[in-house]
Amino acid sequence: MSNQERHPGEQRVCTAEDTTPCPDTELLTPREVPLGGPRAMPVLRSLPGKNRRMIGAWCFADVYGPTDISHQAGMQVPPHPHIGLQTVSWLVRGRVHHRDSLGSDQLVQPGQLSIMTAGHGIAHSERTPQDAHPVLHGAQLWIALPEGDRHGPPAFAHHDDLPVLTHPGARLTVIAGDVDGHRSPARVHTPLMGAEVTLDPGAHLTLPLDPDFEHGVLPLDTPLDLLGHHIEPGALLYLGPGRHHLDLAATRGARLLVIGGTPFTEDLLMWWNLVGRDHDEIVRARTDWERARTGHGTRFAPVTGDPGPALPAPELPTARMRPRPPHRR
Ligand code: MN
Repeated sequence: MSNQERHPGEQRVCTAEDTTPCPDTELLTPREVPLGGPRAMPVLRSLPGKNRRMIGAWCFADVYGPTDISHQAGMQVPPHPHIGLQTVSWLVRGRVHHRDSLGSDQLVQPGQLSIMTAGHGIAHSERTPQDAHPVLHGAQLWIALPEGDRHGPPAFAHHDDLPVLTHPGARLTVIAGDVDGHRSPARVHTPLMGAEVTLDPGAHLTLPLDPDFEHGVLPLDTPLDLLGHHIEPGALLYLGPGRHHLDLAATRGARLLVIGGTPFTEDLLMWWNLVGRDHDEIVRARTDWERARTGHGTRFAPVTGDPGPALPAPELPTARMRPRPPHRR
């Protein structure tokens, strides 16, 4: 006996009108985490979740704000290292000043994508600029690099020419991958997509999906009711593979991110800002960073122009760390 269907998951897919949670969906509740140290800005982190750690190659999702930063420092993340991932910085309001060890110096602005590829190793800082916009609101996501690309050279790219699709009452910006044949110029290393969708009150949008992808929906400002779930901003709704489209509707209007990708097939060891595969590799990267902070070694160059001291790495856990699968099996 064998299942002849190409996408056996399809028969379970329910519709936008459903009021009970669909069986192939899972709500990931975020936890609040201080960004860049205990005195820093709080962020809502939905990925990695307790059971579901990845969506495609997307392995990390932080949403912050909207926060009035006119009487505070805003985002102040001193130089710190990354390996094995790409960072995606996406702003709704405000500005963030990105500097890195390649010499990149970029003001990240709403509607524009900054994508940094860590590869074998990069260091960067992210700070609210001096002439700050009073409100900061945005997201940072990480994409895990597959084995074949994760030891490659670091890179940074800024894209202010992303495809924008408009429909009555709706606007979609393609951040990564493609939507309905409109492709982001951002270089990624596994089949994946990312988009920002805004809906006016009462508007709806049918978003075509790749049925080979699993997806995640992250509201950025107002709660969203979708497929029998109530998703608060900063939370993430997981959608299993097999969907050909997603009907989005928002009586009060909405701004949300949709991410997706083919299920990742490698287990990851994520510790601090480092994405690797085993304990010893993470320990080596940590050692290389601690040496770099005191001006030694070649793996992590200094972050040009950053005013502050670099972030020290946290202490390693006492037990050996183990890689984890993309979701609990
Ligand atoms: Mn970072």
